[in-house]
Amino acid sequence: MTTAAEAVSVLRASAVRGRTGVVVFDTVGAFTAALDEARTGGAAVGLVPTMGSLHAGHASLISRARAECDVVAVTVFVNPTQFDDVADLAAYPRDPDGDVELAGSAGADMVLMPAVEEVYPEGSATVVSLPSLSGSFEGESRPGHFDGVATVVAKLFAMTGRCRAYFGEKDYQQLALVRTMARDLCLPVEVIGCPTVRDADGLALSSRNARLSVEQRKAAPVLYRALLAGRRAIECGSRDRSAVESIMRGVIGQEPLARLDYAAAVDASDLSSPDELGGAVRLLVAARVGAVRLIDNLGTFATTPELAHPGRRQSVTTSPVAPQHRLDDERHPQ
Ligand code: AMP
Repeated sequence: MTTAAEAVSVLRASAVRGRTGVVVFDTVGAFTAALDEARTGGAAVGLVPTMGSLHAGHASLISRARAECDVVAVTVFVNPTQFDDVADLAAYPRDPDGDVELAGSAGADMVLMPAVEEVYPEGSATVVSLPSLSGSFEGESRPGHFDGVATVVAKLFAMTGRCRAYFGEKDYQQLALVRTMARDLCLPVEVIGCPTVRDADGLALSSRNARLSVEQRKAAPVLYRALLAGRRAIECGSRDRSAVESIMRGVIGQEPLARLDYAAAVDASDLSSPDELGGAVRLLVAARVGAVRLIDNLGTFATTPELAHPGRRQSVTTSPVAPQHRLDDERHPQ
């Protein structure tokens, strides 16, 4: 089998090497050709799509891809079409040098950093849309967001070719959408969901956290506390969706610096909102802390106590979206 080093030693006309040895591409043609060459030599390709400003959450996806694939490609592209707010796009943090460094240290072989014109050539007319998964929660709060996500991910999948693609459960609705899109379009991509990496106080790592002031950073873990309160209510037997949602809303309401967008308890498989919760449940929250919009989610399982295994800690898959992970896979870096 071709080693990663052999695989990426080809076709790097427009590529330069970062300090960690990672090969950086700025043109899609050279990136695609290198991956085609790698696959011809028998290599399995892992893809980690990102918008850059990489942190330990992204690194966890890259490390997982490293462990499971022969060649690991990271894409760094701040996709303009998924921003409904130009100010948000302009304020999105960017750190290309740091990204190359972190991607290489986490095990990436290649990083694609394309210009907007490479991804959206003049006259681009195609939009990928999944209306049934795009109208609620993030889609309702950010009109057009998921059309932008589905379109750019379809393009990244086309540029990469056959691969395993690693996405975070941190963006749970996005994960469900991408998995559905890959299936519906018969793309040769296996979508793999990975657990959320959190700071020690529970705040989910996000590139946006860098924009929080010291006070706002202290307030931000309220999202995770709300999720824990919702999960506790379900674990204590509550099955009433609106009661669980109201508990989560109440926790966020106690933090003066946070402005709630939504707090929802949904069916983990299709994100529907049954009155009575049952089976795999996903708790979703979104709130603004200052000007920074944060999202988070947590899985749990609403079953009748007599059906649970007595005397044994429940081992619960997060959901049909990511059946390979248990809830307690949620990681807290030290
Ligand atoms: P982004 O750069 O925010 O578009 O994220 C790129 C990928 O990293 C997406 O699949 C995210 O779900 C994932 N991701 C972002 N934050 C985390 C985190 N804290 N833990 C795990 N994955 C994450």
